[in-house]
Amino acid sequence: MLDIQKIRQDFPILNEVINGKPLVYFDNAATTQKPLPVLNALTRYYEHFNANIHRGIHHLAEKATSAFEASRHKIQTFLNARHVEEIIFTYGTTDGINLVAQSYGRTFLKAGDEIIISTMEHHSNIVPWQMLCEEKGCVLRVIPINDEGELLMDEYEKMLSEKTKFVSVVHVSNALGTINPVAEIIEKAHAVGAKVLIDGAQASSHIDINVQALDCDFYVFSLHKLYGPTGMGALYGKKDILNAMPPYRGGGEMIKEVTFAKTTYSDLPYKFEAGTPNIADVVAAYTAVEYVETLGKKQIADYEHELLVYGTDALQSIDGLRLVGTAKEKVSVISFVMDGIHPQDVGVILDQQGIAVRTGHHCTQPLMQRLGIPGTSRASFAVYNTKEEIDKLVVGLERVKKMLS
Ligand code: PMP
Repeated sequence: MLDIQKIRQDFPILNEVINGKPLVYFDNAATTQKPLPVLNALTRYYEHFNANIHRGIHHLAEKATSAFEASRHKIQTFLNARHVEEIIFTYGTTDGINLVAQSYGRTFLKAGDEIIISTMEHHSNIVPWQMLCEEKGCVLRVIPINDEGELLMDEYEKMLSEKTKFVSVVHVSNALGTINPVAEIIEKAHAVGAKVLIDGAQASSHIDINVQALDCDFYVFSLHKLYGPTGMGALYGKKDILNAMPPYRGGGEMIKEVTFAKTTYSDLPYKFEAGTPNIADVVAAYTAVEYVETLGKKQIADYEHELLVYGTDALQSIDGLRLVGTAKEKVSVISFVMDGIHPQDVGVILDQQGIAVRTGHHCTQPLMQRLGIPGTSRASFAVYNTKEEIDKLVVGLERVKKMLS
């Protein structure tokens, strides 16, 4: 059993007072808060071994390099990747998807090839593919969903053909919390010879990820949704595929030799890591992953599920409130709308009570169009949240109703 009160002490920000009220932070799907070990790792790096990595031979450069590379090993284990060089550091999920769309997509996809995404994608898993389609003449196809917010797998199967060259879908929806059957999606895509990218931005903090068991070709996530720093993420790619892909960005670090006549590129993973990376945040990512591993993914998921069940029951009992996204397989994300009240007003009034939720389209405008709503209010729970905080949300929402309906 997790000691939630003890865990809360690891997160200094939870002591903040917002508008005279103790902070209730329910915007974890946007970004999680950071525990002291992660904050300390950042400070320790800058205080004790800040240096540029890989090229220096002095003590600090060696120390920074080994901490940076230790993080790569940590993430390799976290995802169960076969080879450490299959882990590429990025600026986050968005950056990882753009890397694949630009490097793999521009090289291996051609006019008429089909790329499949789904209705519930985040804009960062739509726009890079649209840009590619515009440039190369590929065709974007979209898996529809049912009213509960689940993918229509029959429709997906019907879409697959020898024209399908790439499938890019979200593991867990940020707007609805739906957990998608990604293993099945991958298997079916592979059966027609397509490559698959999984957007794991929301999955990494809730679900055990095993890229070898999934057999995905690419997996991307952001550390800031996993109790780690912002502006830092990782792309996993199968080694043979990454090796066949050209570099995404050119510059220092990613080269073997540069002459004005010709440049040769570094081996994996450095081929994809041009320029000075986000060293401090990569170093602190080690600690974020370690923090999650120490608590235990399964324990975190079980506790969050308890919050999800409790929160779903509590919110459902509010008259005039409708849940959006009621998939059978869900993580601890509750999206909802209230009769006659704009989501933004819900957010503003809750904020006055110190409660942080996200409102709007959650970077999933096509999904909102499919659901026929402009947006939702979304409460998303992390391991440090409590049932008492959910009770406060219920009181807050009753107040919203009293003030606005
Ligand atoms: N995909 C999903 C499902 C997300 O929730 C997010 C972040 N909201 C992203 C992609 C983009 O992540 P980032 O902004 O860290 O690049």
